[in-house]
Amino acid sequence: MRDDDPPRNARTHAISTSERGSFCTARCACGWAGPARRSRERARTDGAEHLAGS
Ligand SMILES: [Zn+2]
Repeated sequence: MRDDDPPRNARTHAISTSERGSFCTARCACGWAGPARRSRERARTDGAEHLAGS
């Protein structure tokens, strides 16, 4: 067991959104990324659902 190598499921989740052209994608600090959306609001919803564990 190495103290500097925390388990993957211990990572914190932090949603951010990035825009690319007319699309917006939600991303998480854990490495998750949602599908490209036409609406930033929809991308935020994707992130919220990821945080909820779906
Ligand atoms: Zn996450």
